[in-house]
Amino acid sequence: MTDTLIPGIDEAKAAVGRLRLRTQSFIDGEFRDAVGGRRYVTENPATGQPIAEIAEGGPEDVDVAVSAARRAFEAGVWSRMNPGDRKSTLIRWAGLIEANARELGLIETIDAGKPITDTVGLDMPETATCIRWHAEAADKIYGEVAPSPEGTVATIVREPMGVVGAVIPWNYPAQMAAWKLGPALATGNSVVIKPASTTSLSLLRIAELGVEAGIPAGVLNVVTGPGDTVGEAIGRHADIDCVAFTGSTEVGRRFLTYSAESNLKRVLLELGGKSPQIVFSDAADFEHIAANVAMAIFWNMGENCSAGSRLIVHRSVKRRLLEALEAELGRWPVGDPLDPATRIGALISRGHLERVLAYIAVGREEGARVVTGGEQILRESGGYFVPPTVFDGVHNDMRIAREEIFGPVLSVIEFEAEAEAVQIANDTPYGLAASLYTENLNVAHRVARELRAGVVGVNAYSEGDMTTPFGGYKLSGFGGHDKSLHAHEQYTETKTIWINLRPA
Ligand code: NAD
Repeated sequence: MTDTLIPGIDEAKAAVGRLRLRTQSFIDGEFRDAVGGRRYVTENPATGQPIAEIAEGGPEDVDVAVSAARRAFEAGVWSRMNPGDRKSTLIRWAGLIEANARELGLIETIDAGKPITDTVGLDMPETATCIRWHAEAADKIYGEVAPSPEGTVATIVREPMGVVGAVIPWNYPAQMAAWKLGPALATGNSVVIKPASTTSLSLLRIAELGVEAGIPAGVLNVVTGPGDTVGEAIGRHADIDCVAFTGSTEVGRRFLTYSAESNLKRVLLELGGKSPQIVFSDAADFEHIAANVAMAIFWNMGENCSAGSRLIVHRSVKRRLLEALEAELGRWPVGDPLDPATRIGALISRGHLERVLAYIAVGREEGARVVTGGEQILRESGGYFVPPTVFDGVHNDMRIAREEIFGPVLSVIEFEAEAEAVQIANDTPYGLAASLYTENLNVAHRVARELRAGVVGVNAYSEGDMTTPFGGYKLSGFGGHDKSLHAHEQYTETKTIWINLRPA
């Protein structure tokens, strides 16, 4: 049974009081304290109040988890399981995630400050969809037979890599985990995953549901703790074959170093962005465009790698678009994330709030003009709330147009000619996503091809769905893609088996 009904605020608050949170690392099929016995506090960003103490793992916990993962892999309990059975197990897991979506969504909301309508209505269903989609592929991907000379048989087979490490961010804790776990587990690997230290709670419960679904002990391990200890230990571990990282470009670079200085493990990087949204002069439906522009930058408080943080708009339609955007923002209430009416919840932490406010101050100093927002609000809550903030008069060389703010801050930049729009859009060190709005098919096709970004949405803010790959150009990514069958490839080795047949 699916439990994606969004609770009312009173019901949600009562349910939070009844939550039983899992707060230890999950290793070899059981919850465990950190080897060193340390714990740290995780807080609710909407109130600034502590929620729970979490096991603070370190390199020694990573060692234990990797040993368990390797043992399970070598024993073949998962890696050599009939792919059809692996598929059924993962599909059962997806079903359990859906059946517990309400509980998981509540956990995600109090831990990450995300609106309950998103966590229960979107994040958890999408998490289940991702796992189910990759599970379905587990017994549908074939090897190849090469056109080898007579008297020989050459097959090309795909094998799981072994132990996959994953290190993920705090903005979509459950979904980012699923983007790694779905394909890595479907292809037969064992996994050691580290959630962001601010948002470990949902993944711990999801891992527990994995055991209930029948994933054998040791195949899925979650080690909680800080990035510079647990994350680095995963990056440097000599017995991890591949590491999938989603997070900032700065930390992503370190994973290349970790790999280079350890066992040359495969490194898959999904990193930051500064994505453009281009609105051409012939764009027609301003209500639709404004809704998509707002979604692109204000969804998830702008804490979104593919956030469309630069609105590059033709001079002739800028005023109309900004009016439509202002009207649209009336439909984006900021408030208690447990309230189903809320569309913008709290930023993840005090530190991140200060970083976003500092960027808003930089924008003002650089001469851009705040059209709306621009200040912290709802201070009495104790939480970290910033309303949708729009800067007009931005030039692409300003810091607010170049650096990833990862908050609800939109920079509006004007252009005159198509080539200028493309030049501004591509003038960024990042290349994750882009969108463009036009009624002209020629412009749509031409510009979509000219944009240096991994995902381009035309007349919509869209990352595609589970069938399409997600990954970036330039500083936005390296080494592989999440989602689609491309994600399966990155967690497998390609092996050639060449056989010489004896003559009759
Ligand atoms: P982050 O890079 O600070 O942290 C990501 C993860 O790395 C966390 O688990 C963290 O604990 C760990 N980490 C931190 N320091 C580490 C170190 N020295 N060694 C090893 N691990 C370390 O990023 P964040 O603040 O959690 O997330 C925001 C960033 O993630 C943004 O840049 C955003 O664009 C990016 N992101 C990208 C995608 C994508 O698919 N491209 C998706 C979501 C988020």
